[in-house]
Amino acid sequence: MARVSRRPQATRTTDLEPVLRACPSCGTRLYAVYRTARSVTTLEGLCRLTLQVRQCRNPDCMCYRCPYRPEAEVAWALPHGEFGLDVIALVGTLRYTSHRSIPEIYQALCDRGIQIAERTVTHLLQRYKELVSVHLADQHRLRDRFKEQRQIVLAIDGLQPDVGHEVLWVLRDCLSGEVFLARSLE
Ligand SMILES: [Zn+2]
Repeated sequence: MARVSRRPQATRTTDLEPVLRACPSCGTRLYAVYRTARSVTTLEGLCRLTLQVRQCRNPDCMCYRCPYRPEAEVAWALPHGEFGLDVIALVGTLRYTSHRSIPEIYQALCDRGIQIAERTVTHLLQRYKELVSVHLADQHRLRDRFKEQRQIVLAIDGLQPDVGHEVLWVLRDCLSGEVFLARSLE
């Protein structure tokens, strides 16, 4: 659907680089090959992420020329997501812990200065429900993907919205950006 209003200017920028310097498969150096950027709306405003992408240059390696993106990227937002995981965690907490309605959540986000459409709140709530119900969901798809990829680099992140006491824990694979498991825990 076409965007009805232009996205506002980013209020801050963050550079992310992969922590891994060596290929997780063959151990040779990962080379920085290009930078890419994406914008993510977070509770602190619109953030422009600049991402360094690295590659293995060993032609004998199964990861030869595979893009390796910063591990922290998925802690900011799901792949292709315009809204940060912190916003998704807040939407879920407001709905299920504070029992707010969609219009009330929409208003709460607007009050914080977040530019969002009410229908997007519904989409984000759906993302939250998918996240916390995912438990190696769609196992066949993941199995096929990882058979091809042949390895994973696990990371865990905890996001605590500033309401309630629950933390949304997300366990994910840094190579594919796939989320294995997400749980909201005290
Ligand atoms: Zn390699």
